[in-house]
Amino acid sequence: MNDSLPPCPECSSEYTYEMGALLVCPECAHEWAASAETDTGTGAPGPAVVKDAVGNVLADGDTVTVVKDLKVKGSSTVIKVGTKVRGIRLVNGVGDHDIDCKVDGVGPMQLKSSVVKKI
Ligand SMILES: [Zn+2]
Repeated sequence: MNDSLPPCPECSSEYTYEMGALLVCPECAHEWAASAETDTGTGAPGPAVVKDAVGNVLADGDTVTVVKDLKVKGSSTVIKVGTKVRGIRLVNGVGDHDIDCKVDGVGPMQLKSSVVKKI
């Protein structure tokens, strides 16, 4: 496979590689979900309008808080109610996950817009 992968968003390294559903940068060890940028097969550039739990329209770069405890799949970590998430990115994620973000102390992940509230 010679598909060119997107460069690392942290350090712009071109030596990124795929690991499962994630892209990994060998230079700065950054890991991120690749699905958003490479998803060109559906014809849909992204969710038209993404609304939070109370109906506010969300945009890239917004800061939100989590409105219910969220268990992180595959770990015992729980993202608590009220956790602040900065700099969200709207994506066509896995399942009905439509927010790509990095949660302090937890790492990069995808969330559903229905479990967050814009600040
Ligand atoms: Zn990097």
